[in-house]
Amino acid sequence: MDPKRGLIFPKLTYSPVITAKIKRLTDKFKSYWGQLSQSGALEMGYNSAAANEKLDELSMPIDKWLSGHNLSELIPLFYPPITAQGYGDVRNIAVLYAMKLIVAEDIELLTLIGDNTAFQVKEGFDTFVHRIAETVRDKYLGWRAVRIERLRQTGTQQVTFRVGNFQIVRTCGKTILAFPPLLGQVATLLSDINWKEKHIFSQVKVHKYMTSGNDIPNLQRNVYLGLVPISRNESRDIIPELIPYAGDGEVVAFTKQMKGTRPYYTGYSWIYGDYTDPANGADIFLMLTKLTGTLRKIHPFSRTLFTSVTDYFPHVTGQSIRDGFYRDFESIQGDGGLYFATTLLTFETVNGAIEMGEKFVDKYF
Ligand SMILES: Cc1cc2nc3c(=O)[nH]c(=O)nc-3n(C[C@H](O)[C@H](O)[C@H](O)COP(=O)(O)OP(=O)(O)OC[C@H]3O[C@@H](n4cnc5c(N)ncnc54)[C@H](O)[C@@H]3O)c2cc1C
Repeated sequence: MDPKRGLIFPKLTYSPVITAKIKRLTDKFKSYWGQLSQSGALEMGYNSAAANEKLDELSMPIDKWLSGHNLSELIPLFYPPITAQGYGDVRNIAVLYAMKLIVAEDIELLTLIGDNTAFQVKEGFDTFVHRIAETVRDKYLGWRAVRIERLRQTGTQQVTFRVGNFQIVRTCGKTILAFPPLLGQVATLLSDINWKEKHIFSQVKVHKYMTSGNDIPNLQRNVYLGLVPISRNESRDIIPELIPYAGDGEVVAFTKQMKGTRPYYTGYSWIYGDYTDPANGADIFLMLTKLTGTLRKIHPFSRTLFTSVTDYFPHVTGQSIRDGFYRDFESIQGDGGLYFATTLLTFETVNGAIEMGEKFVDKYF
């Protein structure tokens, strides 16, 4: 799919020669991954001795790191898992996060651009959430935390929730915030936020990201990526060079999901850059306009059924990593009984969130 022109491209498949080459290169990448992983440099929070030793290396942009390890041919193969899924640009995002994403089995998926074998939850992600939620006791749905006061004399926290038109106040022994600690959100929640916390939270970035649910008649494949080969080589004996996605708000991927027996396509759109706030009205308008234009070109009867904006991919820049962001972040964990369990400590995936949650509890509780 070419998001600029709204055209569907044929699936990219490779010859046995190129498949073998990709395997050799990915094996080499996997061995770097293995070394970093075993050294503890990729552990939760990236603040182990091994991680601190490698700050310069881990804070490099993905493409620079790959080139430095004679793996530049793999750069286009990182577009599907990084760029198309909205994690940003291989020229910008720190390799630390890519390293966390690519586990040994997943790396094989790098070779499956536009194929239909990539892992998909066809019934939708809420299937997972509902299953996990069923096992949790004492949960209160629809409670929004609006104020947290750290009562340092008693070592407790007073948390105010808004529930419909009511306010409920609870006193807690320990409080965990389990969403991205963006300065704008945390500053309004914490009654006594201090300068150090402000400095740390101001470095937390997300992407301007919009998901859409689309009805597109007559599509067949499970995944369409807006990553277009620069030239179409019929022999399929070279790793195709892909046109890098501009991150200008165009939809960069469509994935098929079933609602009953009807297929719908989830569209992912994002805007290049590291932001301290999620997409706002003007950004959403831009992304929606581009999405509508692209959909119309694919099929005149395509329509968008809903859109949703999220705080996507909490991360920090390479500069923040080099400046010791993760050391500083760890230093405020537990201050006044307040903890931050966020995928910022790992990498924004469901798997990452679950793994981080388990390690987080082991470490602090
Ligand atoms: C469109 C999209 C597609 C994705 N696709 C994939 C995928 O294919 N594979 C994959 O592994 N991951 C995927 N992810 C990422 C995955 O959803 C996240 O990594 C995961 O949900 C993070 O879990 P979490 O518990 O840290 O945060 P969240 O799931 O974001 O949960 C945070 C919760 O905190 C709540 N909250 C925020 N503020 C307050 C407050 N003041 N008071 C009370 N509650 C509050 C929010 O409402 C939310 O429910 C996708 C994400 C998006 C948005």
